[in-house]
Amino acid sequence: MSQSEKRATALARYPEDTREAAALLKQAIPLMVRHNIAPNPVHYALWYTYSKGLEPELNRHLDRVVKDFDSFPPESAAKLFRDYIIRDELEDARAGQQEVINLVDDMERDVSRSVKGSLNFQASLEHCLEMLEEPSSDGLPTLLSELQQSTQLMQDQQELFLSQLHAAQNEIKSLRDKLERTQLAATLDGLTQVLNRNTFTRVLEQALSKAPQGVALVMLDIDHFKQFNDQYGHPLGDRVLQHVGQVLRNSLPSHAMAARYGGEEFCVILQGCTDLTSAHAFAEQLRLKIQSLRIKARSTEKVLDTITASFGVALFEAGDNLESLLTRADDALYQAKRNGRNQVHR
Ligand code: GH3
Ligand code: MG
Ligand code: MG
Repeated sequence: MSQSEKRATALARYPEDTREAAALLKQAIPLMVRHNIAPNPVHYALWYTYSKGLEPELNRHLDRVVKDFDSFPPESAAKLFRDYIIRDELEDARAGQQEVINLVDDMERDVSRSVKGSLNFQASLEHCLEMLEEPSSDGLPTLLSELQQSTQLMQDQQELFLSQLHAAQNEIKSLRDKLERTQLAATLDGLTQVLNRNTFTRVLEQALSKAPQGVALVMLDIDHFKQFNDQYGHPLGDRVLQHVGQVLRNSLPSHAMAARYGGEEFCVILQGCTDLTSAHAFAEQLRLKIQSLRIKARSTEKVLDTITASFGVALFEAGDNLESLLTRADDALYQAKRNGRNQVHR
């Protein structure tokens, strides 16, 4: 089963629509309040699943925990979260580790077999030498044929070992590819193929810790996107997001990263950029490219309304940190919206 299928399976355990989910939260929250349980995401997930009655065993555990303790011990919460909410993902990771362990075990067995073969060969060579040193050595033909046999055996074993090494090499390569694909999938936003929000934060933190002076942010938000969704439907809205993601990916200068910051909001981190004017000019290019996108409805081939976006640009200044830089970009974006949208503000 592929990663995305597995993820879909995990999500499939919570198929509720907004109304049903809200009803479950209405049950879960009073329970949390009654037991004085902090509304953090781990507790939320547990009590939501409790209200849904999805895991009777979990419900029994939670009943016991709230009966036995005045407060909800964090280690109990963490354990229940692991055992009942992210169980499948953990099994996945364990299976991956087991594959590597098996492979190393196989290689160890092959190597020791080959070493044993070499030792046998050495022993038969030594035996031959001893025989040669005996003055009455008249069994030379037998000796030579024994030597030939053990050389052949040794050669066969080496060839076998070589082919086993090749097989192990291929297996390691495919495991490495699998790992790289999984790692990449975990850093990207699935819909738009730009970085996801978590990775964005990590990359920005790194950029600011390395060379903050050259960091600029370009934040953009699609204009009137709710209206677009309402008019054309969510699937077409998703396609717009994909096109905007593609524009960003195709426009990045070196050392720049694009990320999906929120629903229809994106952010580009520019590195090695020391003046606001060039960041502004880059944002202006993006604005024009997005404005010139022509997206057609698949069924009618009709070109949909022009898509526009508003932009906020901010450059790192002395005393800035991640939050203050983001806030300035966000404020500038807000100003671009207030000034009439489809424009860049800094
Ligand atoms: P503004 O010009 O002020 O930004 O108006 P807006 O309508 O774009 O802003 P608002 O924040 O009111 O609406 C954002 C919309 O973006 C609402 C939400 O349905 C839509 N959206 C968020 N994420 C997605 C998504 O993944 N796919 C689709 N199709 N729509 C999304
Ligand atoms: Mg918007
Ligand atoms: Mg928005």
